Amino acid sequence: MKQISAIGFDLFNTLIIAQGDALNDAVGRLVHSLHESEFEFESGPFRKIHREEAVGFIHRANKEGLETHNSIWISAALKRFGYVVPPHDTRISAAVDAYFSAFFDHCSLIPGTRGMLRVLSERYRLGLLSNFTHAPAALGLADHLGLRPFFDVVVISGELGFRKPHPMMFERLVEGLKVSKDHMIYVGDDPETDIIGAVGAGIQPVWMTYVRDHHLAAVPGYLSNAGQLPGDDVPRISTWEDLFLFLDQWD
Ligand SMILES: [Mg+2]
Repeated sequence: MKQISAIGFDLFNTLIIAQGDALNDAVGRLVHSLHESEFEFESGPFRKIHREEAVGFIHRANKEGLETHNSIWISAALKRFGYVVPPHDTRISAAVDAYFSAFFDHCSLIPGTRGMLRVLSERYRLGLLSNFTHAPAALGLADHLGLRPFFDVVVISGELGFRKPHPMMFERLVEGLKVSKDHMIYVGDDPETDIIGAVGAGIQPVWMTYVRDHHLAAVPGYLSNAGQLPGDDVPRISTWEDLFLFLDQWD
């Protein structure tokens, strides 16, 4: 590979981790918000149906490479309780905001992340590339955790309409970084969306396994990551120190 001048990063479970109960709290806030809007249903059955719908829509989104949105599966869940409410209804928007408010309380950075980005940003162009259905929440979280200033480009699936591993996501990242693909690497945790996605787009992937190595819950994680793991030909890192060592090879 030629000299590296830009690095792309995934967000969740690569730079940011969430406590294992984040999703449970998020769905609790979603249910509370819908109750406040005077939809009547029992919490337990609704949680089960909401999850079923979320998994179904995300599974389809992954397959097609086209992003979905929480409001669509909330609307679908409500329908199963007899409420016909379009996804753009303000009561659903309020529920989506309530849902994501939990992530602001439960998310934190992988140790050393801000320092790593500060050092690398002096030397490389940096990009953020995230599969996140609700772009305002992803951008808000990146701001909240002090990440935004380090990135030259931020691409969120919910904004673009495509979802990793779709090559359009990676193309948009490359465009924003203004480099040719053989001068960049892409760091992510997910074997399918990140590693297979980057390879498919012609970009050198680096597999970040901090969450896996520490046996942390991969949040939001509606779909379990049961796919094939990357082979030995994919560089693997577990700490930011490992990333610096990897980059040193190309000096
Ligand atoms: Mg990830």
